[in-house]
Amino acid sequence: MKFVGAHVSASGGVDNAPLNAMKIGAKAFALFTKNQRQWRAKPLDEVMIKSFKSNLEKSGILPKHILPHDSYLINLGHPEVEKLEKSREAFIDELQRCEQLGLELLNFHPGSHLVKVPKKDPAYTDKIMEAELNCLDVIADSLNLAIEATKEINVKLVIENTAGQGTNLGYKFEHLAHIIDRVEDKSRVGVCLDTCHTFTAGYDLRTRKAYDETMSEFDRIVGFEYLSAMHINDSKPKLGSRVDRHHSLGEGEIGWDTFKFIMNDDRMEDIPLILETINSDIWDREIEEMYALQEIRT
Ligand SMILES: [Zn+2]
Ligand SMILES: [Zn+2]
Repeated sequence: MKFVGAHVSASGGVDNAPLNAMKIGAKAFALFTKNQRQWRAKPLDEVMIKSFKSNLEKSGILPKHILPHDSYLINLGHPEVEKLEKSREAFIDELQRCEQLGLELLNFHPGSHLVKVPKKDPAYTDKIMEAELNCLDVIADSLNLAIEATKEINVKLVIENTAGQGTNLGYKFEHLAHIIDRVEDKSRVGVCLDTCHTFTAGYDLRTRKAYDETMSEFDRIVGFEYLSAMHINDSKPKLGSRVDRHHSLGEGEIGWDTFKFIMNDDRMEDIPLILETINSDIWDREIEEMYALQEIRT
């Protein structure tokens, strides 16, 4: 079975998220467990936790189909010690909030190296590559520390692939593999593939052949055993543009065929498939349209 939903609002309290998911006919959802643009948030209190769990029960959505997203401020590969520490602390706090809500996954972007090299520098490529490799190692260290600090907590750290905008890492499958390789407890790590990010990072998905090739490459380099979730987005920018701008399904450069391939791909069974498309007014329709793409099998 496929579990399609959207990144719903948690404004007014995280307990509103399951209700918002229910309203749009979602079988899965994503949420921020705190304001994503602030470092600090007041801890979740018992009343809120109880209310979240009871609303979740009403919605019939299972914890394994919920994909919390961490704060955009966190950079687990930050080159400055103080800011790296702050990110690591905030990330551990996010893991604990997930656990308090009875959730099993935490979705995050790997991190950014923030190194500026002038394009005219003759050693540009080498310097960028070095900055990327160093940063990937720092990210892996961050994950190991977070796992160590939350040993009693069974929340999976779900790395999202990125478009590769600016100095963001995670735009190559090799980046994800590099990080996973260095994580000691591999049972605590997973991957979320965002269709828009995959596409703008340069992996085509638009035809049967391109989709199959991209997915085989993912399997060869990372491995489908790590695929824990997907973000279902169309893309405003073109293939390989390395620009992160989502679009409504069927309205961007990717198109419906790709979403049909996904809805009929057994490797995407039983994981959250989350819309982060730009028009929340049509999420209910987009979810319906996604299910309509499933071919009836005998
Ligand atoms: Zn994301
Ligand atoms: Zn995403």
